Amino acid sequence: MSMVATMPTTGPLVDQYNRAVKKLRVSLTDRCNFRCVYCMPEDAEFMARDELLTADEIVRAVTAFARLGVEKIRLTGGEPLMRPEVVEITRRIKEVPGVRSVSMTTNGFMLPHRAAELKEAGLDGVNISLDTLRRDRFIQLARRDYLDHVLKGISAAIEFDLQPVKINTVVMRGVNDQEVRDFLTWSREHPVVVRFIEFMPLDADNIWERKLVYNLSEIVEAANQIAPVEEITQDKAAPARTFRFLDGQGEFGVIASVSEPFCEWCDRVRITAEGKIRNCLFATDETDLRELIRGGAPDVDLDLRIRESVWAKWAGHLINQPNFVKPERTMHRIGG
Ligand code: SAM
Ligand code: SF4
Repeated sequence: MSMVATMPTTGPLVDQYNRAVKKLRVSLTDRCNFRCVYCMPEDAEFMARDELLTADEIVRAVTAFARLGVEKIRLTGGEPLMRPEVVEITRRIKEVPGVRSVSMTTNGFMLPHRAAELKEAGLDGVNISLDTLRRDRFIQLARRDYLDHVLKGISAAIEFDLQPVKINTVVMRGVNDQEVRDFLTWSREHPVVVRFIEFMPLDADNIWERKLVYNLSEIVEAANQIAPVEEITQDKAAPARTFRFLDGQGEFGVIASVSEPFCEWCDRVRITAEGKIRNCLFATDETDLRELIRGGAPDVDLDLRIRESVWAKWAGHLINQPNFVKPERTMHRIGG
């Protein structure tokens, strides 16, 4: 990647490597009703309510990003459906000029109660996280006995046409890797697309080890045992490499953040529930937007701060380098 010398103050929102930011992940809360072992500690301490951006503040932040060229918004957390105003926030963000789509990543638990309202509010699609189809393993991974709730959430998403319905599955070697084929077989029988995610070092209990990462080529090999597959990736900026079964029955994706990083094409940034811009999942510093918003700063100040944060984005994460430093924030406090 070649560097660009000076930060533009007009035109597309770009970083110093000339990557334009088109997607924003917005964390609505760090709270969660699950305790997935790869994401958060059992005894998490949550942000005080007055630390969280209010609905108005979230809309203001999204409006600023959209003014600078961001088109796609993904609501996440923590668990975004635990935010009481989630439907209102969805509706308002969908109306922000420049926003083309609003989607959500959720654990699915509350979808049976919320899917209809979210559809009506304009939600364009959901990613529902599910790492195992076995109850005992679900309890081990999520530290909650909620497999049936998640399966009902998936059914609700399908019923209320929150398409595309994608299933996010974090694969950990020796934990749930033997279920890759089960997931593929299951997804071939349902209107969903599974996306396997390599385990990233963003957990709270320091359980991440390289040997736990079940990687892209191993997943593709497992898929080929069901039926031959071919790669159909079109959008390099999308995190998932995509594949289809040649027998015409289904597709799947692999998010290979560790074994085959896609930083070169990254077009995403994040804003945490308390209003910190994170220009990379693995960033070790962040930029406060809440302070400006609460201080009544004009749009031009917000724009400049966003531009500066994006500009400083590094070339890529350092997971595969000896000098990698694990971010202090664990996934549930970043917004995955
Ligand atoms: N609670 C929602 C959910 O679980 O879908 C949204 C937030 S969660 C942090 C977003 C996504 O990050 C989920 O699909 C989850 O599986 C994934 N995730 C969390 N920790 C991870 C890790 N250490 N490595 C890879 N993916 C992770
Ligand atoms: Fe909660 Fe999602 Fe993290 Fe699981 S992955 S603990 S559901 S935020």
